[in-house]
Amino acid sequence: MINYLYREQNWKSQLNDLITDPHELLDLLSLSPDELLSGAILASQQFKLRVPRSFVEKMSQENPLDPLLLQVLPHHLELDEHDGFVTDPLGEEAATQLPGVLHKYESRFLLTLTGACAIHCRYCFRRHFPYQENLPKNKDWLEIKKYIESQPQINEVILSGGDPLTLSNQKLHTWLERIASLPQIKFLRIHSRVPIVIPERLDEELIHTLATSRLKIILVIHANHANEIDHTTQHYLKQLQQHQVTLLNQSVLLKGVNDTAKTLQDLSYRLFESGVMPYYLHVLDKVKGAQHFDLSQDHVTTLYNELLAQLPGYLVPKLVREIAGEKNKTPIVTQFNHIG
Ligand code: SF4
Repeated sequence: MINYLYREQNWKSQLNDLITDPHELLDLLSLSPDELLSGAILASQQFKLRVPRSFVEKMSQENPLDPLLLQVLPHHLELDEHDGFVTDPLGEEAATQLPGVLHKYESRFLLTLTGACAIHCRYCFRRHFPYQENLPKNKDWLEIKKYIESQPQINEVILSGGDPLTLSNQKLHTWLERIASLPQIKFLRIHSRVPIVIPERLDEELIHTLATSRLKIILVIHANHANEIDHTTQHYLKQLQQHQVTLLNQSVLLKGVNDTAKTLQDLSYRLFESGVMPYYLHVLDKVKGAQHFDLSQDHVTTLYNELLAQLPGYLVPKLVREIAGEKNKTPIVTQFNHIG
């Protein structure tokens, strides 16, 4: 049985007590391990299993097709080779300017301060990213500052993953102060899956840091299914909303997880009830190891048109794909039965 006391542990304890053993995960969900376990063990040698216990509590028992489980359980299909699925699908190594600085878009750039995540999502496009060579140290700040100042069109910094909210409050505070010291920067965007998987991370100290910053703060959470957002998650997200943090969500379309219009409608409504606006719906980035989550273009077209027909416009996320080297996400047109 799952131990519900984990809800009351603080976020650091939860981060230090992630499930990393496929056997334990299957056991907690009362799943007979035989057929799933051997593939999971092999695949987790390439990209380790990592999942918080509170996220496992949101999964259903005895259901190998649970949409949350499918996102985290390593699968033998990850080991297959498929044409077009590569280790760096978005060309991020070429876009790296300095350790931690990924400059792909005109007015904004990504700063990756850590390679650690609270959860390992099997579809992650950075699952092969060489974080160790790309993490900025404190002494690198002067170089980063010089780089920003040499590009006056930059007005936004995006903290991206690894997951920035796995860092300590002290470290986040230090980097926010550095960024806020540059008058040209107006916006700070944080992309994180932690508010979904360990919502207790949104503690008072972090909220104070965000609420008192000169910068306009945007938090983009990453939820793919309505079951990921429970009352605890909603409670913590609402605290942020009360402090004028803009809350957006982006999802990835994943076969078996959220590949029906009904599932995506439920997600949009759950997000809205939680004070979060649906922002992007990404088609899968073709990263090696995630090919079994891919959907056909026809499926995506039909699904999105259904979503457009059934949801009010403000709850329909933009359907996009990211193309290496492009200066923005590429919108996908579905109304003419054509995917761009
Ligand atoms: S939390 Fe984000 S960066 Fe980390 S594994 Fe999941 S998708 Fe990738």
